[in-house]
Amino acid sequence: MSKFLIFLKSLFFPKECLDCGMLGEFICSDCLKKIPIRPSKPPEKIRYQDYLDQVHVASFYANQILAKLIDLYKFHYQENLGTILSQIAIDYLKKNQLTATLADFILIPLPLHRRRYLERGFNQSQIIAQNIKQYLNAPLIDDSLIRTKYTKHQTKLNMNKRLKNISGVFSITNKQKIIGKKILLIDDVVTTGASLNEAAKILRQNGAIKVIGLVLAKN
Ligand SMILES: [Zn+2]
Repeated sequence: MSKFLIFLKSLFFPKECLDCGMLGEFICSDCLKKIPIRPSKPPEKIRYQDYLDQVHVASFYANQILAKLIDLYKFHYQENLGTILSQIAIDYLKKNQLTATLADFILIPLPLHRRRYLERGFNQSQIIAQNIKQYLNAPLIDDSLIRTKYTKHQTKLNMNKRLKNISGVFSITNKQKIIGKKILLIDDVVTTGASLNEAAKILRQNGAIKVIGLVLAKN
């Protein structure tokens, strides 16, 4: 369905819970509770994470409710679902008592290329980062790591192509904001970790002393 059709549909049909069908919201509070929060240990293994000290994965993509929510959020123009999804990441931080550990970190959302941003209308990672910022009361820097190369959707590529596709796509525009910083790099979903790792690499090359990833789920 096109974004416009989805928009029209949303005007004429009330929202319903994507799991139980109850009218009112995309997800009702009971079904939201069916999305499990992961323990932080043992950490989820990510294929490419050489430049990341750690990757925190808040929940499970195998959970159908979460997978549907993420899909609606990203590909069907439902920006407001960002708040609900952010809560899953925040619950993960709470449950695993990571709030104090991350007290001196700055938050950086994985950037979209400007063209992709215009296509989608929002950066899904930035919205999650903004909500986490409010919870952690940490600075959010979204003007220093940018994506300078437009790439194909990673999901359509195999592993080797993913690595080639992602190499050199990020740039740093303001090194002063990165030097000496501990960074919590935020994205919605991790698959191989190629993008997250590439971003961590350039952040480290520009003086970041620690880079930890935080994502909602591993696909
Ligand atoms: Zn429900």
